[in-house]
Amino acid sequence: LNRSLAEFGTTIFAEMSALAVRTGAINLGQGFPDTDGPEEIREAAVRALRDGRGNQYPPGPGVPELRAAIAAHQERRYGLTFDPDTEVLVTAGATEAIAAALLALLEPGDEVVALEPYYDSYAACIAMAGGRRVPVTLRPDGDAFRLDLDELRAAVTGRTRLLLVNTPHNPTGTVLTRAELAAIAELAVERDLLVVTDEVYEHLVFDGAEHLPLAAFPGMRERTVTIGSAGKSFSFTGWKVGWVTAAPGLVTAVRSAKQYLTYVASGPFQYAVAEALALPESYFAAFRADMLAKRDLLAAGLAQAGFGVFRTTGTYFITTDIRPLGESDGFAFCRALPERAGVVAIPNAVFYDHREEGAPFVRFAFCKRTGVLEEAVRRLKALA
Ligand code: PMP
Ligand code: GLN
Repeated sequence: LNRSLAEFGTTIFAEMSALAVRTGAINLGQGFPDTDGPEEIREAAVRALRDGRGNQYPPGPGVPELRAAIAAHQERRYGLTFDPDTEVLVTAGATEAIAAALLALLEPGDEVVALEPYYDSYAACIAMAGGRRVPVTLRPDGDAFRLDLDELRAAVTGRTRLLLVNTPHNPTGTVLTRAELAAIAELAVERDLLVVTDEVYEHLVFDGAEHLPLAAFPGMRERTVTIGSAGKSFSFTGWKVGWVTAAPGLVTAVRSAKQYLTYVASGPFQYAVAEALALPESYFAAFRADMLAKRDLLAAGLAQAGFGVFRTTGTYFITTDIRPLGESDGFAFCRALPERAGVVAIPNAVFYDHREEGAPFVRFAFCKRTGVLEEAVRRLKALA
């Protein structure tokens, strides 16, 4: 194994999902819904397959219908205008978008300032690109994790090439505020940095929080690569359809890397996702309301089971503190949890360079059927 990858081993999601299968535990680890996305969108995929749309290599940048739908979605929701031909790229999930963006934009030795805890593929992709990650730690402040803007500013050096942002934030459930995003934008403009922003949970915001795309802030449209995913917005994580929107030069750069990773993303699903992006607002509202009810159920249950519970305002994850249970090592806790309680969760420490900062935190996914969450809560309450 190449040295830049050796430190990463097997992703925690594969490890923990395998543990769930082996032990028969309820899997609240890896973030995937246990209910598929809309029937009409599944039908659209079947129709594309039957009609022979996308069964052979689709165009490299993505099928025109999907690129147009991505641009229309950004315009409708955020007032951001992208040219479907030059400013939109379809990828094999957000995961490929992240990889292609980092491989395309980094030179060996470039520093990437990323919010810590960070989604695990960021670290691996920065390493594969020969970059250096510089984590800025989100820390508990009351019932949520917050970004220290002074620390963020101090992390930028003459070698910083780009800021890697994620909002709504996995695993903390934090949604960056307008003031925080404005400060990030000002910093990027002042220091002339590129920004890659992972906004795959854009539709999952609660409690009146608003998802604000970084690309909409002053000076950001030209320097920002925005990433979205049909896995997260439509509950089709197995379809692996994601996308990038950015200025033409950045899209061309990302495409240069993407063409040698997968060449193209899977064809028939692209046609179906084009229809999904055009669903009326009522779909997104119902999706959000459903996830909100699940969040409330799991958050209340975890609190009753004795966990410290941070407030999730975005994503489908809840981060907990296990210290009130008399525990301090999230890794050990998660490895033992299937045996002890028949539930699988993710130790947040894997998302940190400063492992000790993340040690007592454990993430639970609530994108599961109500009965599954109720049973998980019943089991977790027996822990105390
Ligand atoms: N970014 C974040 C923050 C995620 O949580 C995930 C995965 N769930 C991804 C990217 C990857 O998305 P995809 O499944 O579309 O590759
Ligand atoms: N993004 C999902 C999570 O955070 C998992 C995706 C994966 O397995 N790579 O749980």
